[in-house]
Amino acid sequence: MERSTIVRVHEGLHARPATRFVKLAKGFESDVELVKDGKAVSAKSSVKLMLLAVKENQEVTVRAHGADAIEAIEALIGYLENPKAGLDDEDSQPTGDAGPKAAVGSAPTASGAANALRGVAASEGFAIGPAFAHFPPDIAGQGRVLRAEEIEGEIDRFRTAVGAVQARMDHALAQDSLSAGDRGIVAALRDIAADDSLTGEAEGLIKGGNDAISAVITAASTIAADFSAVDDHYLNARADDVHAVGRQICLVLLGQDDVSLENIPEGAILIADDIGAWDLARAPLKRIGGVVCGHGGATSHIAIIARSHGIPAVLGLGGQVNALRTARDVALDGNAGHVIIDPDEATRADFAGRVEAAAKERAGLTVFKTVTPKLADGRIIEVAANIGSLEEIEAAQEAGAMGIGLFRTELLFMRHMHLPSEDMQAETYAALAKAFAPYPVIVRTLDIGGDKPIAGIEFPDEENPFLGWRGIRMCLDRPDIFKRQLRALLRAAVHGNIKVMLPMVSDISEVRQTRVLIDECTVELKAEGVPHASFDLGVMIETPAAVLIAPALAKEVAFFSIGTNDLTQYIMAADRLNPTVAKLNDVTNPAVMSAIEMTAKAGVAAGIMVGMCGEAAGRPDLIATFVKMGLTELSMSPASIQRAKKAIMAMAAEG
Ligand code: PEP
Ligand code: MG
Repeated sequence: MERSTIVRVHEGLHARPATRFVKLAKGFESDVELVKDGKAVSAKSSVKLMLLAVKENQEVTVRAHGADAIEAIEALIGYLENPKAGLDDEDSQPTGDAGPKAAVGSAPTASGAANALRGVAASEGFAIGPAFAHFPPDIAGQGRVLRAEEIEGEIDRFRTAVGAVQARMDHALAQDSLSAGDRGIVAALRDIAADDSLTGEAEGLIKGGNDAISAVITAASTIAADFSAVDDHYLNARADDVHAVGRQICLVLLGQDDVSLENIPEGAILIADDIGAWDLARAPLKRIGGVVCGHGGATSHIAIIARSHGIPAVLGLGGQVNALRTARDVALDGNAGHVIIDPDEATRADFAGRVEAAAKERAGLTVFKTVTPKLADGRIIEVAANIGSLEEIEAAQEAGAMGIGLFRTELLFMRHMHLPSEDMQAETYAALAKAFAPYPVIVRTLDIGGDKPIAGIEFPDEENPFLGWRGIRMCLDRPDIFKRQLRALLRAAVHGNIKVMLPMVSDISEVRQTRVLIDECTVELKAEGVPHASFDLGVMIETPAAVLIAPALAKEVAFFSIGTNDLTQYIMAADRLNPTVAKLNDVTNPAVMSAIEMTAKAGVAAGIMVGMCGEAAGRPDLIATFVKMGLTELSMSPASIQRAKKAIMAMAAEG
């Protein structure tokens, strides 16, 4: 028997909703299938279900055969028709750090050396130490044709290996030391290991006479290729997960452990083409001096883990990383994204000096933690923190942050398999508000574009994503997503210190349209009897257009926050991620400084607060200039806070 319906699950059957649907289906004895566009798959396999790529508002049919077919259809149709079915649950914790999107400025290191490589500056700091190359060999199939009498034994061997991998993953998930972010990653791998798509495919191949290792490799490649072929960024990324699980099964079959990071020497620099989340979750991170990787960008899993553990990292070296396979020692500059192979004596001394100076400086700056920087005229300059997750609250407080000047909400959206619910967002924003009260917490609304995949938002392919459908532009076109965030912010605003700012504003209508949506949300929350409060609305000044209309914008908003990272790239027409134009990407260029000054003038004239949350806000050499222009808030990575307070105090002392 079968029944058709239109899927109402918000954003369709992505990973988490698919897993739940499967759990529900497995509760029935009957064979259950889901059919879309004439294609039927087992409703008891989350991999197959994900590959069906069922989207919201599509028609599907649930088909069941068996004793409890009626009940199964009833329950599964009910699930599909519930818009909230795919939304968050208890394991949806925000994690990680949005982090820098590009190399940030630092005093030049010996990067011009012939043995220097340039990658993405993914986690700041300097390191020098012995290289620890982590290049696990590819596993090749044995290519053995099994005799008929061997097949049963090979299937048993295979099943035992799968069981062992699942048990390892369950064991890892049970460890308290696993962070919420790492847990989500391992849980996704475990789902794949527990799904009979991969195992079923492999068993079919073994029955056909293939040895277990060849079967696993072929099955993983087939399923990974299916994931790669789906027109959905999130599902494409699952291909790597399938390969990772296949590799683990093969290693057990071979009786080998993966090349382990357990023995990494104290202070060593980990060199790899790619490091799986599974490996990193088990690595002794305290011993790792730095990380250098062929894959990965500033927002990759590796970068997030490195930053949250304070490990300098340079990623995205591509094929250049092969030059490091035989390196003895490596020096890395995580601020500029440079890696130096087997540094000469002068470079060694330079880096050792930097590492030591950084440690010494850190020790000498701690007295500024509790300082409230005040100018000779009595103005207080708020030195706040830029963060992207609740895990970073402690680092910001430890540094002495006077509130949050930029909470990047992208990570809430990027680290999950579905869009974050209103409740989950409201809890996150409220936790921030409580942690920093009475200081303000400025939450930036979703600032994302087609250059980064997000489960649940389909971005068009664009020639120039940085000039495309991103930030406030995308949010205004997707009021379903935007209103959920605004409602969550209105709810968190009952704590009194939440402020909200809009990214990528280039036209005054964007502020006005946002206000209409805020009003709609307020009316809805009131009608629903949900506690809420209003918040100050500000804008980021990060497009040349915003600078040019700053006097008009200042009349409509409560504050400006200058985003120098984007403002510099847009004023100078120099891609912030492109190392070949890095020289132009300079905030001190007179064109950029004059844009900052124009913004400050417009804000000061209108009597609104003008702050800055781009990387330049944390530069001690520029702080006096910004403060003289009239800026009263500077927001930066926690690591820069004490140095910035010191610079302001020095300026105040000079009078
Ligand atoms: C900026 O552009 O300066 C900024 C702070 O935002 P992001 O780096 O997140 O684009
Ligand atoms: Mg920006």
